[in-house]
Amino acid sequence: MEKFSIDPVNEPIIGIAGVNNELEERIIRNRKEDFLNQDFKELEGKEVEKTFEHIKMIDWANAATNELRRKFGLPDFNIPAQNIHLIKEEFWKHEVRAFFESKYRAIMINESVGVIKIELLGRILHEMLHFKSYNSLQFTCGNDQKLTRHQVGLDTLSHGAKKYIFKNFNEAIIEKLTAKLESNALGQADFLRKDKDRLDALRTNNADSVNINSGELLFNENTYWAEEDGNGFIRAREWKKSIKEEMFDILVDKIYQRNKNRFDDKNMVIDEFTRVMFYGGFKEIIKLIDDTFWPGTVQALEKFENSEKDGKPFNDVVGQLQFVKDL
Ligand SMILES: [Zn+2]
Repeated sequence: MEKFSIDPVNEPIIGIAGVNNELEERIIRNRKEDFLNQDFKELEGKEVEKTFEHIKMIDWANAATNELRRKFGLPDFNIPAQNIHLIKEEFWKHEVRAFFESKYRAIMINESVGVIKIELLGRILHEMLHFKSYNSLQFTCGNDQKLTRHQVGLDTLSHGAKKYIFKNFNEAIIEKLTAKLESNALGQADFLRKDKDRLDALRTNNADSVNINSGELLFNENTYWAEEDGNGFIRAREWKKSIKEEMFDILVDKIYQRNKNRFDDKNMVIDEFTRVMFYGGFKEIIKLIDDTFWPGTVQALEKFENSEKDGKPFNDVVGQLQFVKDL
């Protein structure tokens, strides 16, 4: 059976296939309508109208993420500009600055991100990669039958919607891919030309400047944006690895070291995770990890993503990092 639909607009649904064809068809039809018609009442008056430059950014992000899909043998999947909603700051109610909303089949971004263009592009790329990953739905059985997500990339909500698995690895892969694409954009995209020229000039003229907080050199290979603030100070931004990415890198290194017969280098291991992110089939990743370390490693990793703190669900990334270090 095919793991993905050739038409990526349609997501496979588990837990219902073949059981109730009429319901399945209706769900698929509704999901397609939602994808194509983004007029949600809840968003009325809350969005910023997109500029010509926003459209250019979205086009660039679509092309770059499609190229990645092609590398893994998948067809192009374009996210229309109307599925990307730039929400006015005063209506933004979320802790994060952007997210992929599977329910609306849309990307939501706090428009204030756009103050720094490359950061807005980064958010578009990041959420597009979630959107363009393997997406599937599930119909939970039992008394409270409901339609919910199953997989968004490697990030899997178990059958029955009881627990998460690979949430943090999935995020780490997306962060890694996004940073790479952002760095390509900085050298290529015409809408970043001015920002890039200003960064280069400031870097050349202030090569010895230090960060007043850390005492370290202000400019390094990870600096992606800089500006003079008018009081003689330079503000700069740089790419930094998150804890999730650090954890993923350690895991990848350990998998490579212990499977040199299978992988030529670390990138091959990363590609294996990325392939599954695009195609689904997370069982292959469970097997890879459990075979590399010991049976039950994935179950132990899962516990950190489904822990509790003060009676609330808690994703214990720091605990998971330590666990991976000790593997
Ligand atoms: Zn994400």
